[in-house]
Amino acid sequence: MLFASRSFCCLGIRTHLLQRDLPSKSIRFSAFAMRSESDPQRRHVNRETMPFKHKNTRRIEGLDSNVWVEFTKVAADPSIVNLGQGLPDISPPSYVKEELAKAAAADRLNQYTRGFGHPLLVKALSQVYERVCGRKIDPLTDILVTVGGYGSLFSTVQALIEEGDEVLIIEPFFDCYEPMVKMAGAKPVFIPLRNKNDGNSASSADWVLDPTELANKFNSKTKAIILNTPHNPIGKVFTREELQMIADLCIKHDTLCISDEVYEWLVYKGNKHIKIATLPGMWERTITIGSAGKTYSVTGWKLGWSIGPQHLIKHLQVVQQNTLYTCPTPLQEALAQAFWIDYKRMDDPDCYFYSLSRELEGKRDRMAQLLREVGLKPVIPDGGYFMIVDVSTLNVDLSDVEENQPYDYKFVKWMITSKKLSAIPLSAFCGPETKVQFEKYIRFCFIKKDSTLDAAEVILKNWNKQIA
Ligand code: PMP
Repeated sequence: MLFASRSFCCLGIRTHLLQRDLPSKSIRFSAFAMRSESDPQRRHVNRETMPFKHKNTRRIEGLDSNVWVEFTKVAADPSIVNLGQGLPDISPPSYVKEELAKAAAADRLNQYTRGFGHPLLVKALSQVYERVCGRKIDPLTDILVTVGGYGSLFSTVQALIEEGDEVLIIEPFFDCYEPMVKMAGAKPVFIPLRNKNDGNSASSADWVLDPTELANKFNSKTKAIILNTPHNPIGKVFTREELQMIADLCIKHDTLCISDEVYEWLVYKGNKHIKIATLPGMWERTITIGSAGKTYSVTGWKLGWSIGPQHLIKHLQVVQQNTLYTCPTPLQEALAQAFWIDYKRMDDPDCYFYSLSRELEGKRDRMAQLLREVGLKPVIPDGGYFMIVDVSTLNVDLSDVEENQPYDYKFVKWMITSKKLSAIPLSAFCGPETKVQFEKYIRFCFIKKDSTLDAAEVILKNWNKQIA
């Protein structure tokens, strides 16, 4: 004990406090640890067998499993055609890369910039979104630039969601919504999109919210609803009527709306992306989230933004100033320059905001055709770059895949091993009660260069021959 006390003193820790506050077991452990350091034979025993008092915090309890961690690991083999995680393997626009090279060459841009967003970037974002939203957006008070759409979601939830609040999450949902809400001490309340064609879904538009079911989920504890349009993973683009229904409930119950619109530019012919913040009475209660990764096919840049009224954004800024402080300056500068280029040609069809979705529409149709060739019936997305498909109709024998996991997890693991093709299981995007409803679906990502889709085609054609 004397040894331990001395050692703690060396670390500048007041041992009398430790002796009073810590369980005696941890002091004994420390004494043992110190002795072991000088005894090579005992060093091993110490590390392997001694109990360690530091456990995880309660706020992350039960949040350890994560679909991206699990499936990026199993699909890491380069011989696997990876249509799982949503990362483009197409080239980003050349001017975007050139602007980054220029920014990196300017000395002053290699230092910290304004914490809530690089001045040139928030200015560019305000100009673009003023045009889209048809209202004044103050670059300094109505925008926060952060680490990707993830960072925007995190600062929004941390800033505005209180312990004990309820937050409505539409299922299936981008998987981090649930743990983020739980980490804030709040309760996720799920509301599923239901297939109005009873299992015969051909289009993402078939997936709808039941108005009565939705209305019944709102109560005095409902602090916010998280909306995602265009939707990941289904590809649904919410219509004005659907958004109005959500807006009416938000206004009636004085609820916030966290609107994740990272795929805002990726809408296909016949569809229009509408921002819920532009509906009457919604600007005051909505945080709209965007992402550079999705806008310019640069997911590795990890820049995102939240846009909303000053009275909400100021709280997000408090989270940022006390956590991340700021985002990388050269990336923000390059993104700002790219936005200026596209802002100036927003009336031109060649603007990247519109040209990317034209390019992707061809890839979407090709992906659908490939899946049809193996006898599958894909759900054609109206937006985003994912396509879901019911794989249960293939009746694949999964008895060899061990693990007590949902059907889609087992199917994807089987497909990776035996077909060298990867996707993402849809039940990863559901709360506990709805998993069984979605476990026959898997999600493919189609923002891939032609050679990747060619490789997928070879796999699917061979698969088809085996079935026939
Ligand atoms: N929201 C949705 C719906 C997403 O699909 C993603 C990324 N897959 C994000 C947010 C996170 O965006 P970012 O990569 O910019 O952090």
